[in-house]
Amino acid sequence: MDASHIDGDLVNVLYTEDDIRQRLAEMAAQIEEDYAGRDILLVGVLKGAIMVMADLSRAFSRHVEIDWMAVSSYGSGTKSSGVVRILKDLDTDISDRHVLIVEDIIDTGLTLSWLVSNLSSRKPASVEIATLLRKPDALQMSVDVKYVGWDIPNEFVVGYGLDYSEKYRNLRCIGTLAPHVYS
Ligand code: IMP
Repeated sequence: MDASHIDGDLVNVLYTEDDIRQRLAEMAAQIEEDYAGRDILLVGVLKGAIMVMADLSRAFSRHVEIDWMAVSSYGSGTKSSGVVRILKDLDTDISDRHVLIVEDIIDTGLTLSWLVSNLSSRKPASVEIATLLRKPDALQMSVDVKYVGWDIPNEFVVGYGLDYSEKYRNLRCIGTLAPHVYS
């Protein structure tokens, strides 16, 4: 689905499909350099990270392994509370593995903080985070995010895996949702 198919639902297109592909290629190159000589296990969080995982993983010119977790975070309205329940756990034993969490967007970072401490308790060799987008509140997070595609303003964005009410995930670009859609 392109922006032209949902005419009027977006205030603007923040990043086109080409912008995203190019940025993910740069991130993959940096990750490859940093992890030279070490195996990487990419861990995606369903469902938002599906597109980022698909394109980031294919941008590597080396082997990587991929695994998924599904979590639900209890929150009020649109904000997460940091209280998390695992709906689907990893299939992989991550002890002594180099884990790179792949995220679509970090907002408050509460879910991610929980995830990092949960994965760290399984004694991996390392745990780092790569996210395509980061919102301003995430800068107050105690967890370090090693790879960031873009820092964006505090607006609700959709597309490229990111949803509003389970819609817009299959939009090729990332755009700011028009307020009339959710108000
Ligand atoms: P956090 O725990 O507040 O960082 O929650 C991050 C999660 O909230 C993301 O994985 C998304 O599922 C969702 N989220 C936060 N901001 C947006 C947005 O602008 N668009 C779509 N989903 C968002």
